[in-house]
Amino acid sequence: MSKVIRSPCNLCKRETEHDVLDVREASDEGPNGEVSSVKSYALRCRGCRDYSARIEQWYFDGYFEGSSTTLTRVEFQPARLWAWPPDWIGDLEALDSDLFGLLTEIYSAANDEQVRLLSMGTRTALDHLMNVVLGADYGPFEKKLTEMVAQGHLTGRQKDELETVIDAGSASSHRAFRPPRQLIQAMLATMEGLVQNHYITGPMLKTAASLIPPRPPRQRR
Ligand SMILES: [Zn+2]
Repeated sequence: MSKVIRSPCNLCKRETEHDVLDVREASDEGPNGEVSSVKSYALRCRGCRDYSARIEQWYFDGYFEGSSTTLTRVEFQPARLWAWPPDWIGDLEALDSDLFGLLTEIYSAANDEQVRLLSMGTRTALDHLMNVVLGADYGPFEKKLTEMVAQGHLTGRQKDELETVIDAGSASSHRAFRPPRQLIQAMLATMEGLVQNHYITGPMLKTAASLIPPRPPRQRR
């Protein structure tokens, strides 16, 4: 029976059991007995049968008392995703095909290797959405945000949050900033919430409002 290890799966969207189909190891020994090694696993998910390669870098710091072996880096091919398109993305295709295409690309970059693209893409999606909501391109982000608040599409607090998301995206575009995963996740959630509200939840609630039977008039005593 083949060896089984747990590893993240892009299709199952979580850590699953994988069959180890092959393992290769290459090591380099330094002058003091320290060893750098690369261990590559060819894996197949037991749930969906998707293939991936897991590449582990190990470091052994030499033969002395208290020496240790450390896993210094784990990489995957293809890169592992940690965010996926929301359930409603299919509905967006007919409503705004440009934004649908952009979001599809954004989510394919939701991995540790492409955080700058992801950050820039999130900023671009917000830019696009604000132009749609405002019905015109007001120019710089600051003007768009001010107009969004003036027209009642955003609260002051939402504007502050969006400013942070946009600043992070700009820093990725112009200063090679790699936002940490937590920040990227917050950026995605903020952008996603606004898109969902504009295209999906907002119109749905408008329709729903007409379906709710009116309240009976209050009885006077
Ligand atoms: Zn799987």
